[in-house]
Amino acid sequence: MPTAPSPRPTAWRAPTDYRAAVTSPSQRPLLFLDVDGPLIPFGATKEQLPEGHPTYRTDAEPSSSDANPLLARLDPALGPLLAALPYELVWATTWMGDANECVAPRLGLPQLPVLDWPDPPDDDESGALHWKTRPLLAWAAGRPFAWVDDEITDADRAWVVPHHLGPCLLQRIDPSLGLQPNDFTTLSAWAAALDVL
Ligand SMILES: [Mg+2]
Repeated sequence: MPTAPSPRPTAWRAPTDYRAAVTSPSQRPLLFLDVDGPLIPFGATKEQLPEGHPTYRTDAEPSSSDANPLLARLDPALGPLLAALPYELVWATTWMGDANECVAPRLGLPQLPVLDWPDPPDDDESGALHWKTRPLLAWAAGRPFAWVDDEITDADRAWVVPHHLGPCLLQRIDPSLGLQPNDFTTLSAWAAALDVL
């Protein structure tokens, strides 16, 4: 294993002994999941969706009238697709623990680890860096990960390359559409490629 972070040509580069690490089920890559945008789409125009965002009813629908109405935009079909990915899923969202309480049941997902968000540092040298990026890398601690979020920018991609030892995939999601079939294709292909690095 390398002893110190060093700039690499791409975020795909991995330590030479990496193959052995990913063959263990416990060492599946992490998949950090944002909720608003990837799972709860928003912001589509009348031209994109004249009828507005689709809504879904599930058996997990709470009876309480104070449930967030945006939860109805969760497509239950996404749950099995996410569960089938060769990743260890982690909530990386401002929903925090509510993701397990409100989102996971509608998707048929088990309770997942929740990424905790510390206060951002006062001396952040890059205002363009997303506030999730640093704690997300700290959680990963060098483990390969993918991150799906509608707020990922090139600043995040540039920063993670010299700061993360393992491979990573930062997949920006169009919030007006949410996760699409091509995103699942990309995630599957990326995880599969780890086995041949
Ligand atoms: Mg979001």
